[in-house]
Amino acid sequence: MLPIQDIIPLLASPSRIFITTHYKPDGDAIGSMLGLYHYFTLKGHQVTAVSPSDIPDFLNWMPGIDALYNYEAEPKHCEAALQAADWIFCVDINDFSRTKYLGGLLENAPQPKVMIDHHLAPQSYWTYGISVPEKSSTCEMVYDFIQSAGDSAFINEAIGTCLYTGLLTDTGSFRFPSTQASTHLMAADLISKGVKHTPIHEEIADSWSLKRMQFLGYVLLEKMEILPSLKTGIIALSKNDLRLFDIATGDTEGIVNYPLSIAGIRFAVLMTERADEIKLSFRSKGDFDVSTLARNYFNGGGHFNAAGGSSQRTLEETVTYFKEILSDIHPR
Ligand code: 5GP
Ligand code: MN
Repeated sequence: MLPIQDIIPLLASPSRIFITTHYKPDGDAIGSMLGLYHYFTLKGHQVTAVSPSDIPDFLNWMPGIDALYNYEAEPKHCEAALQAADWIFCVDINDFSRTKYLGGLLENAPQPKVMIDHHLAPQSYWTYGISVPEKSSTCEMVYDFIQSAGDSAFINEAIGTCLYTGLLTDTGSFRFPSTQASTHLMAADLISKGVKHTPIHEEIADSWSLKRMQFLGYVLLEKMEILPSLKTGIIALSKNDLRLFDIATGDTEGIVNYPLSIAGIRFAVLMTERADEIKLSFRSKGDFDVSTLARNYFNGGGHFNAAGGSSQRTLEETVTYFKEILSDIHPR
């Protein structure tokens, strides 16, 4: 993989750029994709930004969100844009499989493929890119990229709002260990460039439906299993649980963190039954590595303290299998 800086002179003249990110994108995925979208558009490029799936409602206010295509809803348009592109950018992923149904097309595409990402264990097939697992967010890396291109002056309120959103969501509002001095310096710079942090926080944190709030109450009371001796909390949600409360994409965001707010709990897993798989989300505190666990047992990956994977077993079998593993591998 060649360094990302090498593409800066190559983008001196207008190009067609295709940008995508992971399936079921979060704040950092959409923030980094739209931040780049606005930046490249300002630079005179023709940009198509594609989400591999639908997006969570709590992000549907983001600047540029209407320009985003959903691959599952408009596959033909997205495929035509991919074919016509000169460049493919992938943000907040280091592996095409994270885009799910778009993965095969990306893998076979002849164009140069550029990765900007902060997950562990990147694939080797990228043409250009940057991988920094210590970075708080991909949004911070997009910010660094724009700075390194000498284009700090291009960061306007729209770009800044997109990048601030990913910074906020991926750091758990500046609380996770990945938050560094550079993270706060970036936030300060964005605020000085016109970003309004209070409305962003309100859109993300204070935009719940009553049903979603009641669902959280139900989950904490009925669905959370705490295993104090293993320092672990497990939440397993069936399709029926989700249906009972009209739970949509994004509504389960953050639920995995609740067991970690209990004293002594250092490892949490959320299992969610989807149409074709069980999706797993892992979170940990301190020196317990969930990324390796996700990779070794659940065909996944991610960060040291936040990772994910999937299972083809039933929900009940996944819980049983997880508990088997847990007896060997749990925080000490
Ligand atoms: P979340 O639990 O919020 O879905 O994901 C936590 C972290 O793990 C994110 O950084 C995400 O990109 C990564 N992750 C989630 N699911 C998967 C997966 O199936 N495979 C890999 N490689 N990473 C994942
Ligand atoms: Mn991220």
